[in-house]
Amino acid sequence: MELKETDCIGALKAGETFLKEKGIQNPRLEAEVLLASVLKWERVDLYVNKETVLSPKELSHYRSLIIKRSEGVPTSYLTGVREFLSMDFIVTPGVLIPRPETEVLVEEALKLLNQQFPPEKRERETINVIDLGTGSGIIGISIAKHLSGCHVYGVDISEKALEVARENAKRMGVLGSVTLLKGDLFSPLKTFSLEGNTHAVVSNPPYIPTGELESLQREIKDHEPVTALDGGSDGMVYFKKIISKAPGYLVSGGILALEIGYNQGKKVKALMEDSNSFKNISIIKDYSGYDRVIT
Ligand code: GLN
Repeated sequence: MELKETDCIGALKAGETFLKEKGIQNPRLEAEVLLASVLKWERVDLYVNKETVLSPKELSHYRSLIIKRSEGVPTSYLTGVREFLSMDFIVTPGVLIPRPETEVLVEEALKLLNQQFPPEKRERETINVIDLGTGSGIIGISIAKHLSGCHVYGVDISEKALEVARENAKRMGVLGSVTLLKGDLFSPLKTFSLEGNTHAVVSNPPYIPTGELESLQREIKDHEPVTALDGGSDGMVYFKKIISKAPGYLVSGGILALEIGYNQGKKVKALMEDSNSFKNISIIKDYSGYDRVIT
């Protein structure tokens, strides 16, 4: 990509044209996000200060981001942040990029927690929440941020993910109410006396059937961690494990809230019904009208 000394507008034009040629969707927006990230500005500042001439260092940084983006690297891995529920979370290639659909899961979990355990009925009892496969920590940290008196146990098998989650918990000011643990699902929780003492189990587990991973968009399949996506041959491996173990952890009236694939509602509901441990099972749709969350 040719990029000589120029101001913001010139840089945006060049980036936009290049990304467009390479078939990247929304090339103008992408160029704006990347340039704003280089300058550590808000997008709007690019227009407010549009005549600012970029330094050679800024130009070469911007150019390298545009090129990586044109090769399919997701924008969030280039900027290192992703907004979720109006908070900017740190993301690295070691974690799944937060999806807007997951906001529905957090909103439902918070709604049910407030319904089941309203602050006025709590007797100084801590609300314990387990977030399985916490990744960047978005689910658990958002709950810790929005529900007073709660403690979140975030579990992940990936040390890299836990480091990102720890950074995010710090950034959001909730490090004191979040415990991050390395391990497989419930296994690292043994020593925390959470059996029969947990108010909610939440998770956005890997749920894509192994055979469908190949057909995911290139940006996802080539860049996001496969362990965060691969739900085994039928995509149900983690749902089965979580649904069989969660009842042993939950208090009476406790909540299980899971993100699901758009076509998994019936199957996951059947698993929950078969366990005879769950009441009031609901499936909630995402903003696009697809089944996305089960509680
Ligand atoms: N809990 C994280 C999220 O919802 C990570 C989920 C995952 O890696 N499957 O983004």
